Amino acid sequence: MLSQGGLIALPTETVYGLAADATCGTAVARIFETKGRPRFNPLICHMSSLEMVERYVEFNALALRLAEAFWPGALTLVLPLKSDAAINPLTTAGLDTLAVRIPTGFARTLIADYDRPLAAPSANTSGKISPTTAEHVSADLGDSVELILDGGPAVIGLESTILKPAAGGVELLRPGGLAAADIEAVIGKRLLRRADPTATIDAPGMLRSHYAPVAKMTINAEQAGHGDAVITFAGKSLAGQQNASTVLDLSPSGDLREAAANLFAFMVQADAATATQIRVVSIPQTGLGEAINDRLERAAAPRS
Ligand code: AMP
Ligand code: MG
Repeated sequence: MLSQGGLIALPTETVYGLAADATCGTAVARIFETKGRPRFNPLICHMSSLEMVERYVEFNALALRLAEAFWPGALTLVLPLKSDAAINPLTTAGLDTLAVRIPTGFARTLIADYDRPLAAPSANTSGKISPTTAEHVSADLGDSVELILDGGPAVIGLESTILKPAAGGVELLRPGGLAAADIEAVIGKRLLRRADPTATIDAPGMLRSHYAPVAKMTINAEQAGHGDAVITFAGKSLAGQQNASTVLDLSPSGDLREAAANLFAFMVQADAATATQIRVVSIPQTGLGEAINDRLERAAAPRS
C-alpha cells in the first residue's frame, strides 16, 4: 500500500501516526487532504536506523549524542537536509531541514522492511485530539485510510519531544513524551526554550513569509510579462504567457493532490527561472486548494 502511494494508520509509542512514503509527493499530499489541514506544515519523518537517517540529513557531534542516547524513542531531531536527499519537498514544506525520529517496536520494523522513510503526523483530523488507540483512529478517519494497524494503546500517549541542535545549544521546539530533564542530563546543559511559548518561529509553515522566493510573486495573476515565470494549473493560459521564461503547470489535469505534490519544487524552479516576477494563476479554494493558497499567499506576502 505504501509503495502505491497509500496511507496507513500505524501504532507508535507516542501516538498513532498517519503514514505515507515521504519520498512520494502525492502520497504526502493525501496526508494533508485526509487530516483536512488548512496549511502545509513540515511533517516528521520516521526512519528505522541511524544508517538510514544519515542518508537524508547531516549530523553533528551533539545530534549524534542525542540520537545514540534516545533512539529509538520519543525524540525528534530537526537537522539539515542533505542536498541530494530524496525527501519530497512537501514533507518539509520546502525547508532545508528535516524533522526525523526513529520509533520503537512495530513501526520501526515496518520501516526497516520498507526501507524508505515514512512521513507521519498524528492520525487525526486537524484540530482533534491525537489518537492513542486504533479505535480512536477508526472513529475519526474511518474509511479515508486504506489500513489501520492495531498495536494496542500507545505506550507513551504523548507526541515526541522536538529538538533542534544548533551551534549555540539545543533548542526545545516542542515539549513531548521525552522529558527535558532527561535530555539535559545527557547533554550536560540546559535546553534553550523560546521566551514566548506561543511563538512558533520554527514551525515555519506558520510564518507569514517563509521560503519567500527571491523574485516578486503575484498570485491570482491574469497576465504575464516578458521573462516572468508562470505557475499555472489545469492548463490555464495567462495573457502574454508566450513571453514568459518558463511555464510550469501544477497539474495539467486539475488534480489538487498532484498540484500540492509539485508546489514547493515548482516555486524553487520558477524562482531560478526568472529575474523578474513569478505569476501564479488562481487555484480553486476547495480540498487541498486551501492549503495551497495559504502557502502561495505567504510566499507572495510583503517582506520586511
Ligand atoms: P505533527 O505533524 O503534529 O507531528 O507535528 C510536527 C511538528 O514538527 C510541528 O510542530 C512542526 O512544526 C515540527 N517540524 C517538522 N519539521 C520541522 C522542521 N524542519 N523544522 C522545525 N520544525 C519542524
Ligand atoms: Mg498532531
